[in-house]
Amino acid sequence: MTLARLRFPHHAMRGRRYPEPPHPYRNEFQRDRDRIIHARAFRRLEDKTQVFSERLSDHFRNRLTHTIEVAQIARTVAAALGLDEDFTEALALAHDIGHPPFGHSGEEALDRQMRRYGERFDHNVNALRLVESFELRYARFPGLNLTFEVREGIVKHSRDFEPGENPELDEFLPGLRPPLEAQLIDLADEIAYNTADLDDGWSAGLFTMDQIAASVPGYRAIVEELRRAFPRAGEREIFLESVRRLIDLLATALIEGTAANALASAAETVDDVRRLPRLAAMTDGAAEINRGLKRFLFENLYSIPMLAEERRLAAEKIGALFEFFMSQPEHLPENHRKRLENFPLHRVVCDYIAGMTDGYLRRTAERLLR
Ligand code: MG
Repeated sequence: MTLARLRFPHHAMRGRRYPEPPHPYRNEFQRDRDRIIHARAFRRLEDKTQVFSERLSDHFRNRLTHTIEVAQIARTVAAALGLDEDFTEALALAHDIGHPPFGHSGEEALDRQMRRYGERFDHNVNALRLVESFELRYARFPGLNLTFEVREGIVKHSRDFEPGENPELDEFLPGLRPPLEAQLIDLADEIAYNTADLDDGWSAGLFTMDQIAASVPGYRAIVEELRRAFPRAGEREIFLESVRRLIDLLATALIEGTAANALASAAETVDDVRRLPRLAAMTDGAAEINRGLKRFLFENLYSIPMLAEERRLAAEKIGALFEFFMSQPEHLPENHRKRLENFPLHRVVCDYIAGMTDGYLRRTAERLLR
């Protein structure tokens, strides 16, 4: 099942913006991974909402623990396929680094504000800006000076783009797919959040195993088999075992589906991978289960009034704070006000808010909006 021939070859690296001498015992992707872990934007994931805000429970996932789960799944899949684990891990750890506070509602709220000025907000582009310029930790260059491949993977992990679509991204090989290591990330992300959200939602008492079984294909068979195998296990053990089975089933399907697609495509090199449609995919049966999970979570978790209300309030707060800084920029912190020499106000305000954690945004709103 190995796709070692399609593993990204280190000799083909396009390098860093600011050339650096090699490290004595870490390869370039390991260095990128380490730089991401030590970045401030990475630490801030700890206080960014995944689905449930910390006010609802203190043991549900936040964006940092979600990121660690994505990295675990992505590494396992990459290793099983003979791909570059370090490259995959660096991308998994960076995949959510550009998320603003309050998850997707935060992203929509910022995008709505930016559209009024003829611009957009996109978390992947924001992640690129973070690693290219906002992280200031090195004396010799701005940003983290990551390899081209990791920066390309950051902007392409969830979608492809065509030449001219976004001038900011034109240097990242528009029109071509990223290497397989980057293609895995979006699917590892889906496996991680679908199963984790199922876990958190069930633990919050929002739905039962019977309800899941009624809309996720194959789930009832998993639960019945577990009840036969562990007749004395309680509901909680059975449920958690079922989540484990789902993760294993979906990760295995991603390994097998990607291997089968690669074989059928006759791709021999990473350049072939780049020119073909995306090869990373789950096998058909598992993709059906994955879609069922998504649908179920949408109907029974993401759209419930408690979370919808939280999202609405969060979006409102972001919008209000954005408008506050647009009319009273003197309240921006000194380092952000300095950026006004080079950037328009809406861009500076957007970058400032996008970098906030949920807690910092809440506190700032309490302090400034009365
Ligand atoms: Mg994610």
